[in-house]
Amino acid sequence: MPPFFFCARLSLPLTLPKVWTMTDPAPRHKKPHPVWAGLMGRCPECGKGKLFKGFMAIAPHCSECGQDFSQADSGDGPAIFVMLIAGFIVIGAMLVIDTLYEPPIWLMLSIFIPLAILLNIGMIRPFKGVLVTLQFHHKAGQGRQQDTDPPNH
Ligand SMILES: [Zn+2]
Repeated sequence: MPPFFFCARLSLPLTLPKVWTMTDPAPRHKKPHPVWAGLMGRCPECGKGKLFKGFMAIAPHCSECGQDFSQADSGDGPAIFVMLIAGFIVIGAMLVIDTLYEPPIWLMLSIFIPLAILLNIGMIRPFKGVLVTLQFHHKAGQGRQQDTDPPNH
């Protein structure tokens, strides 16, 4: 009795599993986590190319994998998050310090205005990167109005 008969009765696969060898093409790259790629300013597709061209501008495409970034648009989203978070930190700290120590107003302003500027500038790029990479991760696009008229056939 041939051995494949037993295999067929047990419904085992008769082909061996694929084993990667050095001559095979490399498997597709794994996408990076969108939050990590955004914080690092990296491409949401390959995680290696740069997402930004300059400080705030989104590059037209990835320099490594060629991913098109022309549809990426985070709008005012990063600015809103950054202003709310920085405002909460700065105003909260101002209220606590003013209540506890009652420093002169010139000292408060000379400390907290630069702090507010630095917090906003420091957070805007990572927030913009995360929002753009999350758009790519969730395949977000511009909203479109569905055609409610029946098609003309
Ligand atoms: Zn890329």
